[in-house]
Amino acid sequence: MTTRPERAPGSLHSMLRGRVVEGEPLSRHTTIRIGGPARWFVEPADAEDLHRVLEWCRTHGVPYTVIGLGSNLLVPDEGYDGVVISLQKAAGWVRFDGTTVEAGAGYPISRLVQEAARRGLAGLLGLAGVPGTVGGAVAMNAGTPHGEMKDVVQSVRYLAPDGRVVEAPREALRFGYRHSRFLEEPSIVLAARLELRPADAETEVRRLREHLARRNAMQPVEWPNTGSVWTNPPGEYAGRLIEEAGLKGARRGGAQISPKHANFIINLGGASAGDVLGLMAQARAAVLKRHGILLQPEVRWLEGQEALERRLAEPPGD
Ligand SMILES: Cc1cc2nc3c(=O)[nH]c(=O)nc-3n(C[C@H](O)[C@H](O)[C@H](O)COP(=O)(O)OP(=O)(O)OC[C@H]3O[C@@H](n4cnc5c(N)ncnc54)[C@H](O)[C@@H]3O)c2cc1C
Repeated sequence: MTTRPERAPGSLHSMLRGRVVEGEPLSRHTTIRIGGPARWFVEPADAEDLHRVLEWCRTHGVPYTVIGLGSNLLVPDEGYDGVVISLQKAAGWVRFDGTTVEAGAGYPISRLVQEAARRGLAGLLGLAGVPGTVGGAVAMNAGTPHGEMKDVVQSVRYLAPDGRVVEAPREALRFGYRHSRFLEEPSIVLAARLELRPADAETEVRRLREHLARRNAMQPVEWPNTGSVWTNPPGEYAGRLIEEAGLKGARRGGAQISPKHANFIINLGGASAGDVLGLMAQARAAVLKRHGILLQPEVRWLEGQEALERRLAEPPGD
């Protein structure tokens, strides 16, 4: 039987070269600025460190999860009773070689997009303005109608649940609309190899600037948020359905369905995960009633989507 270490007397600290923080508020690591403390927040220094953390978790029966920039993430108010791992230090690298780019899972997408445009490489416009890391973008198959991760990813190196490091081609990654195999299994993306197209650098930088300006005009980027809350049902827009159900601008505690774009929930200050869940449940019920469509969350719940569904089914509190 595994025993959960009450405070794991310094063991995690002493065996890693990276950073370990006990009780780190996860509101610091989500773009919506919501989330209780992680029992342990770990930034491994390198791949060896990552292996050590995972081994420690297995030995002690402690749950773990990997996050990127928390830009698609909702964290419970009570936090996470396990290890939250960030790969920004261990895998925050990028290498350009002609039209091929290799990037570590912790490298920020915004920098990748800008750097590619500056070097005259096309193919990442669909990712422009999408916050997050390469690992998160692969896991979510992030993108827009202008293009998504799966259009440029050639292969992904990941750490399988059995500890093996696997290099898998795109065809093996089960990419779909805001979906990949990494949302189905506890594998950890370590790095991705992308293939871009040669283009004129000046044109790419101008297109990027124009694209970002258009996005920022449409999205409530002035408030902390978590991106699209719901996936778009086939042939529909979740934001339009919520607006037609009369909930644009609805408030609960410090959270609000954005008056600018109804598929965003914003944190006006002091919002809790409970406030956001309350608005989500309200929007889902209203859209089901008016349109007969059950909205599906795009946003990820730190403890998994089944737990999110349970939370959404709970009767809302005050
Ligand atoms: C203002 C705003 C606009 C947005 N616009 C878009 C948009 O246009 N298109 C779009 O697709 N998304 C959009 N998003 C959502 C978000 O930016 C993307 O989903 C992004 O790819 C998440 O990356 P992340 O690194 O922040 O991942 P996180 O939010 O930290 O995590 C998301 C999921 O990926 C998993 N994950 C993260 N890293 C790894 C890893 N290394 N290995 C395995 N799993 C991992 C996590 O466990 C979690 O399940 C937007 C968000 C915001 C705040």
